[in-house]
Amino acid sequence: MEGFAYYGEKYGKLDEISLPLSDRSLFFGDAIYDAAIGYGGGLLFLEEHLARFRSNAERLGFRDIPSTDELSKIFKRLIALSGLREYFLYFQLSATSPSRRHSRGDAGSALLATLTPYTPPSPEKKLRLITYPDRRYGYCDIKTVNLWPAVLASCAAEEAGADEAVFYFGNTVTECAHSNISILKDGTLITHPTNERILPGITRAHLILAARRANIAVLERPFTLAELFSADEVLISSTSKFCLTACEINGRTVGGGDEIRANLLKESLFSEYFRLGSSKK
Ligand code: PLP
Repeated sequence: MEGFAYYGEKYGKLDEISLPLSDRSLFFGDAIYDAAIGYGGGLLFLEEHLARFRSNAERLGFRDIPSTDELSKIFKRLIALSGLREYFLYFQLSATSPSRRHSRGDAGSALLATLTPYTPPSPEKKLRLITYPDRRYGYCDIKTVNLWPAVLASCAAEEAGADEAVFYFGNTVTECAHSNISILKDGTLITHPTNERILPGITRAHLILAARRANIAVLERPFTLAELFSADEVLISSTSKFCLTACEINGRTVGGGDEIRANLLKESLFSEYFRLGSSKK
């Protein structure tokens, strides 16, 4: 795969960088991560991604958390080395310890970062979804690498010819395998509140801001599967997808009932990306 990586103060092509067994992401998934996209030298919503990364690292008691300046320098160097115009940045902080012990002892930490090619989706793309039981734990608000429930759900979506899996817990829609989900109903944007059951998506936060700017009422409250199927529009948001609408869930047609508001919200998020090239954040 094309791209560049950083680990242990070394930069190289993706296949030139390897991780030592002291990296606790390997045995314990003892790592947090974040991801951002960008083009032309910039990274979209970088400050927010860095703030979430630091807050997650602190919550899980990581030591030696790199400063914003250190991280920014590494990201800039990766962008320059890669020569890529549009890119996806992944960065991960792992705890490190010399032996396989559950307890961290005086573990340090290690940063992994990769920069790979990225192509933004077309705003017109309509997503096909499946529903999938949310059997995850109570730390969904922390972006850790323990992603196997999301992997299983994504495999099920792919097998069904769908783009994303929507998690439900009991009767409540929480989020998707790798994005947040919101609905438009009677002119109101409804989205699960930020708590331990969902990741506080940076794109979700910008979707709410975009709605408020457009005078669309926002309700942060859980919604049910029945509300999902009868929504005027189903909106999926994430760093790499911005905001896209769904056309089908489990083979049933959904959405298409409030294209004006859905398009306003989509355009607002896509335009943030296209402004980036000129502002070079
Ligand atoms: N929810 C989950 C489980 C995710 O993995 C992601 C993104 O990776 C999101 C939501 C969307 O978050 P963001 O908008 O910050 O990319």
